[in-house]
Amino acid sequence: MKICWYNQQQLGVVDGGRVFDVSAALEALPRPSYPAAAPGDLLVAHLDAVRSAIARLLPSATSIAVEEARFLSPVANPGKIIGVPVNYADHVAEANADQATFTDRYKGEVRQQGLFLKASSALVGPAAGVALRFPERLSHHEMELGVVIGKTAANVRLEDALDYVAGYAIALDMTVRGPEDRSLRKSVDSYAVLGPWLVTADEIGDAQKLDIRLDVNGEPRQRANTAEMLIGIAEQIAWASRYYTLHPGDIIMSGTCAGVGQVLPGDVMDCEIAGIGAMRVAVRAAQE
Ligand code: MN
Repeated sequence: MKICWYNQQQLGVVDGGRVFDVSAALEALPRPSYPAAAPGDLLVAHLDAVRSAIARLLPSATSIAVEEARFLSPVANPGKIIGVPVNYADHVAEANADQATFTDRYKGEVRQQGLFLKASSALVGPAAGVALRFPERLSHHEMELGVVIGKTAANVRLEDALDYVAGYAIALDMTVRGPEDRSLRKSVDSYAVLGPWLVTADEIGDAQKLDIRLDVNGEPRQRANTAEMLIGIAEQIAWASRYYTLHPGDIIMSGTCAGVGQVLPGDVMDCEIAGIGAMRVAVRAAQE
C-alpha cells in the first residue's frame, strides 16, 4: 500500500495513478494525549489499524490524479532522522578524489564514522521543495533510499531488524559542504526531503535490490542499486538500535551513491526508486 499526506493534510492512498482521500481513516487513531504515552509518529505507530480502516473506506473514496496532488512528507512527525555516511563505494571514491569540496573531518569507513542525526525540523515533502539558505556555499543533493521504522526497536538482532520496518520512501539528504559538524550542515530547513509516499514493506519485498536515479534539469546525476550499499538496511537498524531506541516514524536515510552535485535556485530534481515511484523537487533561494 502507498500511503501519503497531500494537499491540505489529507491522508491518501495511491493506486493506479490516482490519490484516494482516506482521511476518515484517521478516526482509527487513539486521541492524542500529553505527554504522549509512547513517542513516535501516531499514524505510523498505528499503521495496521489505519490500514484496516483504509480498506473499508477505499471502495467509496473520492480521488484525484497523482499529477494534481501536492505531496507532503509521508511521515508527519518523526522523532529523529538518522543518516548513514559513506555507504556506497563509488561515493567514497568521489569524495576521496575531491578533498577541496568534501573537506572531510570524518575519517574511515562507515562503521568507524558512525551514524549521524539530521534535525527533524529539516523535513519536508516534495511539493515544498528545497530552499537554499546559504547562496555563497555549495549545497549538494544526496539521493537515498528512506527507511521508515514501524515499531519501537531497542537492541534488535540483525536477523530480526527488517521486522521493524514500516515501509520505504524516496529520500534526499541535502547537504551544505564545509567544515562544520555534519549534523549542522545537513539540518538546514528543507534539507531533508521524503516522498512522495510511504510504500509499506510488504509491497516492496527485497529493498536491497532497488534501482535509484536522480536527474537535475533532465541531466543524469546519480544512478545506483541499493544492492551496492556497504552496510545494508538490517545492519543499519540493528546498529542504530544499540545506541538509541528507534520509534515509529523514525527515518533512516541509508546513504548516497556517486554523482552528488550542486543545485542552484531554479533547478529541478527528478528522483525515482524502482518499486516506490518518482518525485520532482524544485530548488529555490530561501529568501524568495
Ligand atoms: Mn547522505
